[in-house]
Amino acid sequence: MDGRCPTLFWRPDALTVWGDEEVRRRLSWYHAVMTDEKPAKFIICKHTPIDPDIELKEAEEKELWSIHEKTSEEFRKIHEKIANGTLKLGELEKQEKSFLDLKIELVHRLVQSCRLCERRCGVNRLKGEKGFCRLDSVSRVSTWFHHFGEEAPLLGGGGHPVGGSGTIFFTSCNLRCKFCQNYDISFNPENGVEVDAKRLALIAKELRREGAANINYVGGEPTPNLHTIIESLKHLNVNVPLLWNSNMLCSEETMKILCEVIDIWLPDFKFGNNNCADRLTAGGIDYVKIVTRNHIIAHKNGDMIVRHLVMPNHLDCCTKPVLEILAKKLDKDRILVNIMGQWRPEYYVARHPEKYPELMRRVSSKEMREAFDYADQLGLVYKPVS
Ligand code: SF4
Repeated sequence: MDGRCPTLFWRPDALTVWGDEEVRRRLSWYHAVMTDEKPAKFIICKHTPIDPDIELKEAEEKELWSIHEKTSEEFRKIHEKIANGTLKLGELEKQEKSFLDLKIELVHRLVQSCRLCERRCGVNRLKGEKGFCRLDSVSRVSTWFHHFGEEAPLLGGGGHPVGGSGTIFFTSCNLRCKFCQNYDISFNPENGVEVDAKRLALIAKELRREGAANINYVGGEPTPNLHTIIESLKHLNVNVPLLWNSNMLCSEETMKILCEVIDIWLPDFKFGNNNCADRLTAGGIDYVKIVTRNHIIAHKNGDMIVRHLVMPNHLDCCTKPVLEILAKKLDKDRILVNIMGQWRPEYYVARHPEKYPELMRRVSSKEMREAFDYADQLGLVYKPVS
């Protein structure tokens, strides 16, 4: 795939977007990894040592988290030096026992009494038990391909071939929106094919070799599959930015694991209050609190494009409060926001128009204009990414 790819006829913005200084600055780490100027964070993890004498499988989980906290500080120093060019990866040795091994073991513990997301089901998925997401420890992938419908910077360009986003769709979901546009994937855990860590690494490697700009973990939802994803990185031996495309119901523990692994975040912030979240999803979670917390953690630990889908008649209750949270709680100078207008009633909402009368139409251009104007007022940067 090269710069003359026919895709450029309908996504020329994949090239032009990198001419925007703000995009380059806000996505500088992602861009450097995409173009192979810098190593991805998961590769730096493999070069970050932990005590070689520690028996990971024997240690108490508490002890493992304590080591994780210390190693995380060490990782930050190394990452900063690599980012500012005062250290090269080649100056570090690949470790027999690394930060990545520690993360793999910790995620193994999390799945044994599942706390991968804030549902905190506590089931032992390694023994075949299933929680809210209806997944045991087997991960399934519905499909994977070079996605050319994602935000322009995620398609390549800027010195990398426009190879699309190497998107891997995991089955099942822990949020279950009643308007899900991927409901065949999200609501059927048995969809797709089984993947283990090695197979997942092979899929990622092939996507990158074919020109993908990044590996885009999505679904459904990637979070319940973290154990397979994190272990796959042990087998992944190509440089590629990792992208977390998530509903952000991750537990705090999962966020700690991801912070030193994910190069660019693509989180959804859908609802501005818990009433709408409860009404339009499976409910039962403190949506705004959890998702706000995770956005704050993520944006401190990587580049970020936040997605918000505007819903008809939900401007005052959802769109505006979400934009306010982003503007107040995150560093406006570092994030990009994609305010999306492609709402269409799908799945349960479409089948029950009497329950959701306000959602039975497309978003109007007036509503979109109001959303953009509000983002402008708040000083959020949104325009160059879609
Ligand atoms: S991933 Fe979340 S929903 Fe699934 S079993 Fe674990 S805690 Fe429950």
